[in-house]
Amino acid sequence: MPQPVTAPISAHERYPTGTVLLSNALTFLTWTFGAYIIWTALGIAFSLLFIAYCLLIELNLLRRSCVSCYYYGKTCFSGRGRCCSALFKRGNAGDFAGRDITWVDMLPDILVSVIPITCGIGVMIVDFSWLVLALLLALVGLTTMGNALVRGRLACKYCRQRTLGCPAERLFQKREGRE
Ligand code: SF4
Repeated sequence: MPQPVTAPISAHERYPTGTVLLSNALTFLTWTFGAYIIWTALGIAFSLLFIAYCLLIELNLLRRSCVSCYYYGKTCFSGRGRCCSALFKRGNAGDFAGRDITWVDMLPDILVSVIPITCGIGVMIVDFSWLVLALLLALVGLTTMGNALVRGRLACKYCRQRTLGCPAERLFQKREGRE
């Protein structure tokens, strides 16, 4: 059984509104830039499919993770804890800490960036566009630096669920050889 991490003094009971807004802005821009790039590469139908895919990923996160998270019904870094309590019944809190995830489990989330980035590179090769290039670079920036800022500096560092046990935290620790 993984050892709980000692509680950082400043774990948030309720995350600041600024963090919630920034986290959702990151998600909104990633989806919007991604949808536009796919629209340019493959047409509106695939772009709408991509947005539906992103919404399904969100719903799955709420249904599978947020229901048993410490922030269920509370304001977590993204506000999903509150959304979840409006849509789903509370799950078993122990399920969250006890669950193990692999990179295969993370793949659907990773594809939210990889699919449009791949399409964007395709557009660059077939029919170069300065606008798509700008959106592609912005998307790479959001996926890398944006996530590092929101997750690394504003979310996980102050997360009470992380101290109780978090499968994503353990997976990243494994990757960094810290476990
Ligand atoms: S911290 Fe993560 S798992 Fe917990 S409610 Fe927020 S988004 Fe869901």
